[in-house]
Amino acid sequence: MASHLLPTVWLKSGREKKIIGRYPWVQREEVTKADKIEPGSLARLVAHDGAFLAIGTYNGLSRFPFRVLSRQEEKIDQAFFERAFRRCQARRVGIEGTDAVREIFAEADGLPGLIVDRYRRVAVVQVRGMGMERLKPIWLPALLAVYDVDCVYEKSEMEGRREEGLDPIAGPLSGELPAQVLFSEAGFELESAVLNGLKTGYYLDQRDSRRRLAERVKPGQRVLDTFCYSGAFSLYAARAGAQTLGIDLHEGALALAQENAARNGLDCAFEQANAFEWLEQPKQGAGFDWIILDPPAIAKAKDKRDSLKWGVWKLAHRAVDHLAPGGRMVVCSCSYQLSLSDLIDVVRLAASDRGQLAFVEEVTLQSPDHPYLAQFPESLYLKCAWVRMEPA
Ligand code: SAH
Repeated sequence: MASHLLPTVWLKSGREKKIIGRYPWVQREEVTKADKIEPGSLARLVAHDGAFLAIGTYNGLSRFPFRVLSRQEEKIDQAFFERAFRRCQARRVGIEGTDAVREIFAEADGLPGLIVDRYRRVAVVQVRGMGMERLKPIWLPALLAVYDVDCVYEKSEMEGRREEGLDPIAGPLSGELPAQVLFSEAGFELESAVLNGLKTGYYLDQRDSRRRLAERVKPGQRVLDTFCYSGAFSLYAARAGAQTLGIDLHEGALALAQENAARNGLDCAFEQANAFEWLEQPKQGAGFDWIILDPPAIAKAKDKRDSLKWGVWKLAHRAVDHLAPGGRMVVCSCSYQLSLSDLIDVVRLAASDRGQLAFVEEVTLQSPDHPYLAQFPESLYLKCAWVRMEPA
């Protein structure tokens, strides 16, 4: 449909600045009036005086009903998505040493609600909103035209979809999912647990932090990898000569981690345990030189920020007991709600309480195929504080 024929959504006076400034979401309270629009359909966003602002999708059920696709009066067709996907590819040119890449990172790549992780020739897609759901027949052929893939598999199992009026779903969109989805990262041959694992099957976002750990760890050092999932931090550390112990609550994760270690001829130990409880045990031997704390976002809603802080505090507080003298922790938060300064604050409080000085040596963020777009602060979700503890 020509863009001027699309239904219209009127934005509250004064709020056009943020859209002009490239923020991609309009909140419910910022909409003063809207034509009758099927949830998730294309619409035009205009200022209070009728001036054109953007084309996007509108879902009256959502807390963020309007999501911007374009700031131009253009047709949202297959060619639009092909152009957008090529821009995403261009942004990822410098990402090397891996054939698994987050090709599309939703809002931060100008494509609200659409995530695509590619593992070699398999694309795993997540659709977060009604808008991208409805546009699937348009973006799917574009995806197949731009990326060299044999299979597109949807793994939209997020509970958050319900807020948008969508059920969690999973299944093939094109081609057939191979029995094993293998890829390589930094010379490792790894499996992404697309069918039964978390997210799209593997955490590509920690790639750079794992590489950093491998650079910093010294042969013979001991590494505790809590919340290890696929065991990737352990693998990087073990190849660098460290002795590793990975801990995860879920059997499936441990099986994946063990297979990944075996596939790469690495000797890594894994143990099934609740990390919070495991850390309550007394220290083993000389303790660990490195402790990775990479918990899932235990609470996602905004009012749960305190519970996120509490979870990280508890982990850091307990982990102090398990450090070797001069030991370090890598404390990660994968939730936007817990900011970097919150994270450092929590580490400070835990350290002070345990009579430690906490030296923050560096901070690492999500890998660059998960771009952090300054105009969309919500796109920075993963941050890791690298902290050396020293008795005060
Ligand atoms: N560090 C991983 C990603 C961690 S994802 C990587 O680099 O790929 C979070 C993991 O925490 C999941 O595997 C989940 O099974 C595990 N988990 C959740 N709650 C846990 C708990 N209380 N104790 C230990 N593991 C837990």
